[in-house]
Amino acid sequence: MKITEKIMTSIKEYETIIIHRHLRPDPDALGSQKALQEIIQATFPEKKVYKVGGPLEGLEYLTSMDTIEDSQYEKALVIVTDTANAPRISDQRYKLGEKLIKIDHHPNDEPYGDLVWVNTRASSCSEIIYDFYDEFKKELKFTDEAARVLYAGIVGDTGRFLYPATTSHTLEVAADLMRYKFDAARMNRRLEQISTEVAHLSGYVLQNIQVDENGAAMVLLSQEVQAEFHIVDADTTMVVPLPGQIENIVAWAIFVAQPEGYYRVRLRSKGPAINGLAKRHDGGGHPLASGANAKDLTEVKDIYREIQELVAAYDPTIK
Ligand code: AMP
Repeated sequence: MKITEKIMTSIKEYETIIIHRHLRPDPDALGSQKALQEIIQATFPEKKVYKVGGPLEGLEYLTSMDTIEDSQYEKALVIVTDTANAPRISDQRYKLGEKLIKIDHHPNDEPYGDLVWVNTRASSCSEIIYDFYDEFKKELKFTDEAARVLYAGIVGDTGRFLYPATTSHTLEVAADLMRYKFDAARMNRRLEQISTEVAHLSGYVLQNIQVDENGAAMVLLSQEVQAEFHIVDADTTMVVPLPGQIENIVAWAIFVAQPEGYYRVRLRSKGPAINGLAKRHDGGGHPLASGANAKDLTEVKDIYREIQELVAAYDPTIK
């Protein structure tokens, strides 16, 4: 039996289905989570289908979380979307369920779960959820709200179809979604919208970014800078892609100082794979978009040096 058929069989079998996603959610985490709930609930109105997890960090326009008791996990099917590693699952009660399914598009470094469906060729987990619906569309129902949030997930993870993970299939899925009733242009604007504070922070990032002769770049957002611009860690999301617009920059890191003293590292690349580096520093992710942690300024310098080495060794003509 194909993995998708096994997942479909499990969904039919369980009366309670609880859907999780990763910590610090992005539109793809919430879009895949919410749409899967919509599809299952619309198809099987008698089932109890919940979505759980921590704070939405400014993405409340996409969805909201359900509050459930521990006891509701008894005999439940738990599905986790868009989450590569079990420690990053938001709400660790996912362990309390009877059966666990992982659906994801990140490299399958930790194949947790009884059933694992990972497609690293997909632009986003939202694209995978649509593929699931499409495979079983004779049996499954789809809603305008599912289309709205899956569209948001795809636009979010592809940087509005900018990043190389965007394929012809991604655009076909987006085209299918746009046939449903929601305002795609409005969603595009909402996803791009930044606060005045983040606009000012963007200026800081662009002015203070340090770039070496090969295009390895870094910027550090200290606690003082964050206080000066009245921003918190979650606000840094919108500035992460900015260095990619600058000519010559090949790969970059944004180091965000945390109140506890360590640094959250947000890594991006236009060519050399940076997920190996991320894994060496308490992180992971995609070849061109990863995250890590640096315990102090020494590790910050080490990480930047490793980026410099990767960029120096990178030959854009091979690939
Ligand atoms: P971010 O900079 O947080 O948007 O992260 C980019 C990508 O890196 C995400 O899609 C995750 O797959 C991955 N990632 C970020 N932080 C971590 C981490 N601490 N551990 C593993 N993967 C991470």
